[in-house]
Formats: sequence, C-alpha cells, structure tokens
Amino acid sequence: MSKIILPNSTVGVFGSGQLGRMFAIEARKMGYRVHTFSPDIDTPTGQVADVETTAAYEDLDAVRAFAKGVDVLTFEFENVPFAAVQAASEIVDVHPKGEILHVTQHRLREKTFLSENGFPVTRFRHIKLIDDLYHATEELGFPCILKTAGFGYDGKGQVKLEAPHDIEAAFAAMNGEASVLEAFVPFEKEVSVVCARDAAGNFANYGVIENEHANHILDVSTVPADVSANVRSEAVDIARSLAEKLEYIGTLCVEFFLRGDDTLLINELAPRPHNSGHLTFDACATSQFGQQLRAVCGLPLGSTEFYGPAAMANLLGDIWKKGEPNWAAALSNPSIKLHLYGKAEPRPGRKMGHLTALATTSNGARTMVSEARERLTEKVSYSRRPTEIPPTTPINPSSTLRAR
Ligand code: AMP
Repeated sequence: MSKIILPNSTVGVFGSGQLGRMFAIEARKMGYRVHTFSPDIDTPTGQVADVETTAAYEDLDAVRAFAKGVDVLTFEFENVPFAAVQAASEIVDVHPKGEILHVTQHRLREKTFLSENGFPVTRFRHIKLIDDLYHATEELGFPCILKTAGFGYDGKGQVKLEAPHDIEAAFAAMNGEASVLEAFVPFEKEVSVVCARDAAGNFANYGVIENEHANHILDVSTVPADVSANVRSEAVDIARSLAEKLEYIGTLCVEFFLRGDDTLLINELAPRPHNSGHLTFDACATSQFGQQLRAVCGLPLGSTEFYGPAAMANLLGDIWKKGEPNWAAALSNPSIKLHLYGKAEPRPGRKMGHLTALATTSNGARTMVSEARERLTEKVSYSRRPTEIPPTTPINPSSTLRAR
C-alpha cells in the first residue's frame, strides 16, 4: 500500500510535454503543487507548473536535487532514461515504478514481456545483424515493419518492407541500432483501452476507444468504439490483466490492432496517459490525468463515466502552414472544445493541440471535430453573427468504474 500524498503536497513530473501539462492542470485543480523536469525551457508543462527544472536526464545530481523537492514522482513520457528514474527512486516514490518504464521504453523488452506472459502480440523478431533481417523476413513474410527497439513514437524509426529488395535500405535506416521486425497486421481498426490502477489493486477503465491514424500519427479518436461486446470485454480484460501483472500504479494505455475475425493483438503499451485518452479531459467525470494523479497520490480512483459519445481530433503543426489558424471558425460550433499546448513552433507533424466534442452519437462527435478542424484553415472573416448556444448533452448513466 503506498502512502497518501495529500493536496498541497508537491508532485514531480519527468517530462514536460502536453501530457504533463494536462496532468499539471488536474493536479493544480486539486490543490497540488507541480514540479517538472526536462532538458527544455518554457515547456507545455513548465508553463502551468510551479517549478520548471531544465537539466539533462543524464545529470543525476540535478535529478536527485529535483527528487528531494517533491513528495512523489511520475513521468509523462517513457523515454526518460531508466538511470534517472532509478536515481530518483532512491529518494522518493516513483509511480509507475521504474521497472515498468524500463520494459515499455524498449520495443523488444516490451514485446518479449507480453509474449512470455501470454498476451496476444504481433509476431516479431529481434534484429542485430543484416543476416537476422534476411532470416526474419523469410519467417514473417512481406509486408513487414522494421522498428528501432528503443526511443520511437508516432511511427518514428519505422520502415515498411514490401519485398526482399527493401531489406538493405531498411537495415541501413536503423543506423546500427538494435531493432525489431514485426509482421504487418492487416487490421480492421485500431483501438485502445485507457485504464488506471491504484496500489490497492482497484481498476478503472474508459472502455474501448477507436483510433484513426494518418501518417502513423493519431488523427481522430472516438468513443464508444464501434466494436462488438466480445471485443469490448476482451480488450478491457487484457488491460486489467496487464495492469495486475505489472503491479501498475497510475494511468496505462494499451493500444490494439483489431483484426477482421474480431481478434485483438497488442501493438504497444504507454505507461502514462495517452493521446487517445485526451477526450476524457472534457467527456468524463474523471480524466485520465486526474486518474493518474489519484493513483500516484494514493487517493481513490474517480468515476470514468462518460457524459456522452465523444471525439477528439489532433491539431498538428501542419495546420499553421498558411498562418494562424482560424480559431473563431472552429469554435463557431459552441460544442467544440479547444486545447492548445503552448508550443511556440508549429512544425509539421508536431502535436500542437486538439479539439474535442460531445454529441448524441460517436459518429456525430467525430463529424463535429473533423469539420471544426477543417474550418481552422478557412480564411479569417471579421464579421460575426450572434449564435444561440444549445443546451448541454445529458449525462450518460453507465459507469465503467470497477473496484476489486
Ligand atoms: P507505433 O509507433 O509502433 O505504434 O506505430 C504507429 C502506427 O503505425 C500504428 O498505430 C499503426 O497504424 C502502424 N503500424 C505499426 N506497426 C504496424 C504493424 N505491425 N502492422 C500494421 N500497421 C502497423
């Protein structure tokens, strides 16, 4: 049983991106102080935290000084070097524990853990030498995907191989790093389960979220996912077993491929709040960030009740290509919520913010966020007509919170 970290205490966050920012907003709402640590300055998290520490993760003296100033520590992205988390753990509790970070920050370790523990996972092979790749492509067939074993996200460090003539170039693209070859999964759709577990073993989940990707980056998420009841319960059961196996404390996301025969394969784990769960910020009684806070602070998990079907559309830097987006046009639908992460430089592919909407159906919500996003690139018009604000969506009474 972990100790209770009461409001007005200080929560530390390794990492300083948008996930830390939304976590910090929830933490501040509940009266906590937030310190963030990363090599960057004026960061999405730092802008809303009490203290922003800028130092390299390899600077273990700075890490230890940071750990001494907080009552509990968590992380908002999994590429924090394990040594930093280990050094901090000697001073203060870190949740989820460093061993989980160590497994999930490395594709090979993660996939090995999953397959050794009987979880359904894409077929994979460890690649060190070019001969391994020749051999593995014979076993797994084409197409297949070669991915760097460590430090990859949003499709970075990935190459698709269509035929044997792609082998040499794909191997060269890994720059001598250890990699993992995965069979290409002809999936029907991608879904995720965002869930939380506390030290006592209580488990809460947000059901199944449906995810559409563009260029390997999450584009739109909707709930409830259009999947069968069997898939829904199997996906949640897998997430629960994983959280238990890992003795997980915090928010966890399990990303799945759903195949045409209704079977699930785990694509990857995120040991933190996840982009597909951003819609919980507006659409649920307790967001995935609030849940992370409650779990790491030893407070009871909150209700995961959805106020209604919801959708989220990511806003990438590409939207800024022709100048400042037309925010007023996107917000002309009063049901649209805008989140921006405070990033100064809108680079292509960079996650700058997102839009969410609630509606009476998930398709309706999906259409709303997509249309609002399209309006962002409309020419700015300065004349605005008064609009009538419709009443709010009624609360959906079904809750998915479960306690053991
Ligand atoms: P990842 O960063 O590994 O999650 O990959 C990003 C996206 O690439 C996934 O969400 C899928 O859309 C696609 N992808 C990755 N691995 C595979 C695979 N083995 N088969 C089919 N699509 C994949």
